[in-house]
Parts: sequence; structure tokens; C-alpha cells
Amino acid sequence: MNIMAAASNANLLIATLVLLAAILDRGSCEVDENIIDLSHKYSNTAMVTWPMLLKFNISVGFKGLTPGGVYYEEKRFCTSEHSGTHVDAPLHFYEHAQSVDKIPLKTLIGPGAVIDVSGKTDDDPSYEVTVQDILDWEADNGRIPDGAVLLLNTGWHRRWPNDVEYLGTKADVNNPFNPDYRWPGLAGKTAQWLADSRSIGVYGVDCVSIDYSGSSTFPVHKIFLSPEHGIPSLENVANLDAMPPTGTRVYAIPMYIRDGTGAPTRLFAVVNGGQRHLPAFGLVAVIVLLARRCLL
Ligand SMILES: [Zn+2]
Repeated sequence: MNIMAAASNANLLIATLVLLAAILDRGSCEVDENIIDLSHKYSNTAMVTWPMLLKFNISVGFKGLTPGGVYYEEKRFCTSEHSGTHVDAPLHFYEHAQSVDKIPLKTLIGPGAVIDVSGKTDDDPSYEVTVQDILDWEADNGRIPDGAVLLLNTGWHRRWPNDVEYLGTKADVNNPFNPDYRWPGLAGKTAQWLADSRSIGVYGVDCVSIDYSGSSTFPVHKIFLSPEHGIPSLENVANLDAMPPTGTRVYAIPMYIRDGTGAPTRLFAVVNGGQRHLPAFGLVAVIVLLARRCLL
């Protein structure tokens, strides 16, 4: 083999390796260990729902063999829009406001900002998060980014699905505003400050409501869901202890319900955007360099 032929073969091999690198690199995006599931699972038993709302219920529609002898199974379910991990749309508190199907997907995807106040709620289960709590978080993590999915970790997700622990007392369908209910949340003043001073895309909390249990006037719902601010809000967020304060991209993907006031939502975060290009490119760079040394 002459020098020209060897060089041509080497270039072909290098081109093939680069192509292989590109394929390997695509395959290395979005691996499971980079995904944090922030949703509670829907089931007939292990769920807590606001007492006056219709609980999730699933049953078998058909299970068995078709006349042609083919196994076939289908289930059907019924639920309030506001059961389980779900999003509230502005229409939930404002007539004629934006329904869940009108919320742009780009609003529902954004950088995760997770504020952990669980250390303060142990002693005060009705703790109201202050503006200073937010500013303290920003001092450590930087300003809450525009378009963020801001998630409040109160520690309450650890209590799911024990309704007495999650609500503070046994759920009573005849008493949705039982004064014994206990869970924390943003103070109304803090919600107003966030809506006015930051540009978050979505808010979420690991409790049954974005308003704390002592509220009867729903200030957080009223502020965030207002036509002025229109910030979709998530309730019953799960697994927040697994989340870093920053460095994630959060996806809040609700069921696509026309005119819905809210919807069950599959909520998850991808750490560092799921990009893992460097290991594949590093490996390929070594292979290409070795190939060039051997063949040229
Ligand atoms: Zn809701």
C-alpha cells in the first residue's frame, strides 16, 4: 500500500469514527439517572385529595379474550382535574381566563429553582414562607431565572399518601375547610412580591394547595392565577428532596383537556438539561488521535 492509499484509508476510518461518535453522542443524551420524577402515582388507594373533590378512581373496562382469541385489556378512570400531582390553570380562579389547553408548552418547561424550607416547617406546620426566605436562597444560588419553574420543598411530600399527616387531620368530605387542617405555603405577601419582582413561568409546592392551610381567601391562587400574572401552579409535587436547588430543566406536562381548569400532570426534571456530550466526544477524540498515529 502506497502512502497516498494509506492516507486515504486513514481518512475514511477517521470519518467513520466521527460518524460513530455522533451516533454514540445522541444515544448518551437523556439517560435515566439524569431524570428526577416529581409526580405522585395515581391509584385508587394511595392518594390524598382535597376533601370536597372527586377522588381518582380506575376500574377495568374489559379484560379477557376477544371473540378472535386475542388477549385485550382496557381500563377507565374518573377524577377531579385537581387530584394528584396537577397544574392549576388561571381559569381555576378567574372566569374566562386561560384554560389548561391554552397554556403554551414553552411556559411549562423551564429552569428548576428549588427552595427548601422543610427545616422551618417541622416546628410550624402552618409556616408561611417570607420574602426573606427567597432572598436568602438567592444569596446562595443567584437570582431566580426568568421562566423558572419555582418549586417549594416544604417537606410535605414525605407525608404522602398518609392523609392525616398530609392534611393535618382526617379528610372529611363534608368539611373541606376544617380548621384542623395543617400544611405550609407561601405568604400572600411573598406571592405578590414574586409575581411583581421576578418572572417565573410556573410555581409549585408539595402540598395539597398552593395556599397554606390557614387561608380562607386563597391569596396565592388569586395572585398567581390572575390575568395580570397568569402563572400556572402545581400542587402535590413529589420527590423534591432529590432535587438540587438549580441545574435542572423542569417539564410540567399536563393532560391536554379543552377548557380544563387544571389537569393531572407528569412532572419531571432533567439534570443539567440531560446533555452528556463530553464523555462521548472525549472517547472519540482519543480514538481519532490513536488512529492518526497508527495509520499516517
Ligand atoms: Zn388545583
